[in-house]
Order: sequence, then C-alpha cells, then structure tokens
Amino acid sequence: MMTNTPPLKEIIDEFDLGAKKSLGQHFLLDLNITHKIARLAGVEAGDLVLEIGPGPGGLTRALLAAGAEVVAVERDARCVAALETLHEFYPGKLCVIEGDALSINEPAILEQRTAKIIANLPYNISTELLIKWLKQGNMLWSRMALMFQKEVADRILAVSGTKAYGRLSIISQAASTPARAFDLPPQAFTPPPKVSSSVVLFDPPAVQPKNLDALEHITRAAFSQRRKMLRTSLKPVFGDRLEKALDAAGVRGTQRAEEISVDQFKTLAALYADKTS
Ligand code: SAH
Repeated sequence: MMTNTPPLKEIIDEFDLGAKKSLGQHFLLDLNITHKIARLAGVEAGDLVLEIGPGPGGLTRALLAAGAEVVAVERDARCVAALETLHEFYPGKLCVIEGDALSINEPAILEQRTAKIIANLPYNISTELLIKWLKQGNMLWSRMALMFQKEVADRILAVSGTKAYGRLSIISQAASTPARAFDLPPQAFTPPPKVSSSVVLFDPPAVQPKNLDALEHITRAAFSQRRKMLRTSLKPVFGDRLEKALDAAGVRGTQRAEEISVDQFKTLAALYADKTS
C-alpha cells in the first residue's frame, strides 16, 4: 500500500484551512504526537475507530497508519474536502461524515459495531460529548483516548476531598476507569490554545454501571450548592427516605458533596433508582 501521503502543511495550504476559532480548531501537526496517541490508545490493525473533529487529518493519518478503519465526523466542510485526499492511500478504510458530533447517532453510523473513540476534541463541547459516550458504555466503545484542556482532565480524574472533584469526576469514574496518558503544552498545537492539554484514556469499568441517570440526578442536587450539607441538598431528592439512604451509603447528613466518594454516590444512586422504579 502507498503510504507517502502529502505533508499536512501542503494540505492545509491547498485547502486553505486557516483555523476557525468558533469551531475550536487547534490542529496537531506533529507526527510524533499523533503517533503517540494512536500507540497509547492501543490501536491495532483491524480496529474500528470513531474520530470526532479530524480537522486536516493529522491524527486520522496516524490511526490509518496503525491499520485502523476510521469513521470520522467533522463539521467543517473545508476539512471534509481535505480528508478526501486520504482515500487513495487507504482505500476503503476511511469514512468521513459531515455533521455535528453532538447530534450524531453513534450506533447507527458505526453499524452497531463497538469502536475505540479517539479524538483531539473541540474544547467547547468536550465534556458534553464525553458524558454522552460514557452513558452509552460498552455497547459503543471498548476504549477512549481523548484530548481535553488540562483543567478538564484534572476534573475527570479528581478524587473526593479535592477542589477539582465534582460531577464530572463522579460520572467519569463510575462509568469508566480514566487515566492520564500525557500532557501537552499550548505550543504543541497550531494555533496554540491559551491553556495546556491532556490526553485521557478511558477503559471500561469492571462492571458495566447501572443507574447513571440516577447518579446524574443525585450529583446535580448534591453539588448545586457545594457548601451545603447533604441532609439539606438531598432532601428534595430522597424525601422521607433520606436518613435511611445516607445510613446505607455510610454518609453523614452533615457532610458536603465533595467529601463523598464515587462508591458512596453509586450506592445512593442505586437506592434512588430502586425508589423510582
Ligand atoms: N483532530 C484535529 C483537529 C482538532 S481541532 C487535529 O488534531 O489536528 C477540533 C476539530 O473539531 C476541528 O476540526 C473542528 O472543525 C471540529 N469540530 C468542531 N465542532 C464540531 C462538532 N460539533 N462536530 C464535529 N466536529 C467539530
């Protein structure tokens, strides 16, 4: 197979891919970095990868070079046209869909197959996409490798009792086992964003989680006012059953949301789901 794809810089010039701020475009043009992401995500020949926001295609090339079949969703028509140039080098291995990642139906575009989700995400929609995928779980993905602003990665990975700990930490850790792969300075991107970035790997949890909707509901109430005691913030959720639920989860009513572990929140969610079913 031919692999001498034209340099990315040429593609960017030819298709006039000046970065658009509104689309969160910060491109990765360094092959060392794109190949590192593919390697750390464990991409192998025959893997199916869902990539969001391929842009000019730096990461896409690394995924294809590793032997993956790639389904990519990109909103910018200029980039979709530029990615056409890859078809001749990887025939039948790349499918680019022009669309908004927030409104795609993942199982439909993947034809119900399980994929690895790998992306340098547009930062303004990264957490919304992550939560959407976490909730779909192991039917959709076997692993995810996603680039976030470092501050968002910190929130995903935070443990209870720390400042960064919150709803994103809890849903991420209840629905996956997240781990930081590596950090990148702003200069790794073209154009550079204002902040540092981190790649986070998500593996499926040992047991596929239940009650994620209940978990979202409870954590919303618990964290709506971080400083409130749980016996106050969770009262509207559990009503008369509050004391019992807190006891069962080993939580004191005087504690605050940020002191409660992911496992304790999972217990509360299970009790809440029982109550509403
Ligand atoms: N993966 C590329 C580009 C990352 S920048 C690289 O690493 O070089 C983020 C990309 O997401 C841009 O190409 C942008 O056009 C695209 N994008 C932004 N919003 C999107 C949306 N709602 N749906 C799909 N793609 C989107």
